[in-house]
Amino acid sequence: MDPEALPGVVVMGAAGRMGRMLARAVLDSPEARLAGAVVRPGHDWVGRDIGTLIGQGPAGVAVTDSPLDALAGAQAVLDFTGPATTVEMADLCAQARAVHVIGTTGLSEEDLRRLSLAARHAALVRAGNMSLGVNLLAGLTRRVAEALGTQWDIEIVEAHHAGKADAPSGTALMLGEAAAEGRGQSLPQVAARGRDGITGPRTPGSIGFAAVRGGDIVGEHDVIFAGQGERVVLRHMATDRMIFARGALRAALWGQGRPPGEYDMTDVLGL
Ligand code: NAD
Repeated sequence: MDPEALPGVVVMGAAGRMGRMLARAVLDSPEARLAGAVVRPGHDWVGRDIGTLIGQGPAGVAVTDSPLDALAGAQAVLDFTGPATTVEMADLCAQARAVHVIGTTGLSEEDLRRLSLAARHAALVRAGNMSLGVNLLAGLTRRVAEALGTQWDIEIVEAHHAGKADAPSGTALMLGEAAAEGRGQSLPQVAARGRDGITGPRTPGSIGFAAVRGGDIVGEHDVIFAGQGERVVLRHMATDRMIFARGALRAALWGQGRPPGEYDMTDVLGL
């Protein structure tokens, strides 16, 4: 197939931990073409070949600090950056009618409102975790929570590398949403996010979160259902960031030709 006929994919934040993985996933894929690699303005990667920079050999794509230039002739954007950048990119993707795949976490209610507006014009796929395993775990969490009811206490414990900016992780919140949904609750009303000092007894029916930060942990999530005399623990452990990058690329390809709107990985994976 003529490589120019493949969907063109732009990687935002190409110098980041996830950005490098995303660029590698696109370069490795026979189904997509790397249309651009974008870094922060003034970054010393600007003008250099992205393939060489990530140790893949020359890719023929020069890194840019202009998202607008990168978007020309692109059909999708993979965006694992930060909330402010992601909200700006959503507007650009809407104008370009490009599929916006968002892995960025820590988005506020206002950010999410802006993303919904942009999704009126182009397909937007957003997930706090793009891996198949975690999306399956969310489905299992919903079912177990529904079966066990509010008599069982739910606690979600997550662990990530020392550089992570937000807590609880987007994945932990996604699992919390699934648990709340299974029990017919609204997560914001029952979430207990962080305990310190004389907290008193646990509020019955609440969903607790705890965050561990350290070293190079890629991402671990336990959903603990604690009953009287027994416990059920559902666990996912990520050992390679490539799982998120492959999931994101899959979402970008799935989104080609989709009507504008907001989608998540359960749509992409058909779960
Ligand atoms: P990182 O800090 O290593 O990378 C972010 C990169 O984005 C940085 O290189 C930064 O310079 C770049 N960036 C920010 N604003 C930019 C702009 N305006 N233009 C160009 N580049 C810009 O962080 P990371 O570990 O790669 O994580 C990034 C995000 O992805 C976080 O929100 C993290 O929680 C999330 N994440 C999501 C998943 C998932 O599956 N959804 C998986 C892993 C990480």
